Amino acid sequence: MNGSEILVVEDEPAIQELIAVNLEHAGHRVRRAYNVAEAENLIREIRPDLILLDWMLPDVAGTVLARRLRADARMKDIPVIMLTARAQETDKVEGLEAGADDYITKPFSPKELMARIKAVLRRRAPQLTDDAIEIGGLRLDPASHRVSGNGTEISLGPTEFKLLHFFLTHPERVYSRVQLLDQVWGDHVFVEERTVDVHIRRLRQALEATQHDSLIETVRGTGYRLHA
Ligand code: CA
Repeated sequence: MNGSEILVVEDEPAIQELIAVNLEHAGHRVRRAYNVAEAENLIREIRPDLILLDWMLPDVAGTVLARRLRADARMKDIPVIMLTARAQETDKVEGLEAGADDYITKPFSPKELMARIKAVLRRRAPQLTDDAIEIGGLRLDPASHRVSGNGTEISLGPTEFKLLHFFLTHPERVYSRVQLLDQVWGDHVFVEERTVDVHIRRLRQALEATQHDSLIETVRGTGYRLHA
């Protein structure tokens, strides 16, 4: 499970450093913010794959940021794990009610943090995990970076691979071009929506060999969906 871009929002430099070092060691890319204002600027800019969010921050409480993210159509799917020294059960409930996906009480071990991140990604962003997935005979294995249709190997470019991985982990749901840009391209300020159509076309062409191209449906006026 490598290469996720994780934003660490934590105002205590020593804790921030400890978390960042461990995340980088595990192969993640780390961005850092010391308060909610900095975090919000970065979130708009990079749309991170996951946010580790301290509760007690110098400007606004972490729970306020969690609520704002959940109310934002473009950001509501970003997984959030709250970090806190507040161990009360009522605090935990408040954190989860604010929209956090999980809650870790300080002090925590790096091992526990990594396990929680893995579990949250598996649940909320399976396209970022290394779990192999198969639908209708079409199989994708992120670990070996291989795709096959009914056992026949299919060759895909890197973007088509990511696109197919996202569809396979989110079947039956329609995604607009902008949503696909957010989810598959990530930071896409300079990418046009038409680019999505180009890569969908390439993906379908590659899947034609095993007749899996019909899995990727165009939903008129809305976007695309994988329909099993
Ligand atoms: Ca703090």
